[in-house]
Amino acid sequence: MVKELTTTSGNWNEELIYLLFDQFTSVKILKIYINIYSKNKMIWTFTTHGDFTTKSFQTHLNSIAGGPYNLNDTTFPWKIFWAVKKLALKVHNFMWILLHNGIEVAHKVGRFVEGVPIECHFCNVADETADHLFLHCPFAQAILFASPLGLRLDNNEVTIETLVANWLLLKDDDYHFCLGSNLFWAISKARNTLVFERKQVYIDAVLQQGHYWFNLYYKENYDPMIQSHPQEHTTTPAHEMIRWSPPTEGTIKINIDAAIKNWRSSNAAVTRDHQGVLIGAETSISNYCIPLIAEANGFVLAVKLVNRMVFEKFVIESNSLTMIQILKGELTRFPWRIISILNELRTATSRFPQVEYNFMSRRANDTGHILAKFVVKHNVHELWTSSQPPSCISSALLADVV
Ligand SMILES: [Zn+2]
Repeated sequence: MVKELTTTSGNWNEELIYLLFDQFTSVKILKIYINIYSKNKMIWTFTTHGDFTTKSFQTHLNSIAGGPYNLNDTTFPWKIFWAVKKLALKVHNFMWILLHNGIEVAHKVGRFVEGVPIECHFCNVADETADHLFLHCPFAQAILFASPLGLRLDNNEVTIETLVANWLLLKDDDYHFCLGSNLFWAISKARNTLVFERKQVYIDAVLQQGHYWFNLYYKENYDPMIQSHPQEHTTTPAHEMIRWSPPTEGTIKINIDAAIKNWRSSNAAVTRDHQGVLIGAETSISNYCIPLIAEANGFVLAVKLVNRMVFEKFVIESNSLTMIQILKGELTRFPWRIISILNELRTATSRFPQVEYNFMSRRANDTGHILAKFVVKHNVHELWTSSQPPSCISSALLADVV
């Protein structure tokens, strides 16, 4: 029984776990978030949402058998692919590897190395296959849609191979292929930054990186030092213009953010009223390093902070697209790793008549972002009141109301 591995306060019994299991297993167990109020539930670990599906069973059987090789070398327009000139060589090579299923995504690695999580690092909702990572993940979809491609994929069956082949056959001077390839390359870089450097990545930054390499090679005589404003096919992503806005009177807004450093995560919640006046702020530190768990904990921190106040209506703003989609009911299945946190959040918000969740670009969430980074660096678990705001965010607070 798992219960026998916990203390009376509901936390893991570290001493007992280290006694019973080897160090590797113990560390993995201790990283699992437990909620003492949740009921036990059977979980099918071959899907990220924990429910059994025949597709996941089939995929598991395929993976044991070695997996299918899916590129059709005879019908793919390789001649056109290699004739493209306006693409950086490193991006061209990257696309060749991607089309040959050679990118080391978690799903592939997890087939051979036991203990490697196979979930997508951006959303934790699905297995990290190449098609998911670059096409169907909410993170990739937000990038492809916000880019000049304006790509919205309603069909989950679309694969990288079919999409790229279509781009190549467009006769649009390779515009779609070059821009799409640079965006894929930027997504791949962002994924590696998140996985190997444990740094947070942002949609705006990935778009900028993709545009930069696209402009540099696609446009003749493009000088990045002079041409700072995107022209022709490129447009400024709409959210670059977005800035923090106050809530309506009688409602408070809590901006939250999480930061991860040295295998620990921090959360910050900054609460303001309709005039942009700080009401309170709180931070916390934990050992959960999976980005989605860290972000989910930020929502719990925000609700706990509001529970100490007299307000009945509040809106929580976060730059975690996945969490906002889950809380708005836009994703039907949740990653099982955060189910107990979502239950805790539902219980904590049940007494409030009005709770809203907003996605907000990091550019409009300076206060939460700066505070979360400060906290993980200086290891501060603290509660601030309106009369004594945290000094590191004082100028960001002012800038938001100017
Ligand atoms: Zn994903």
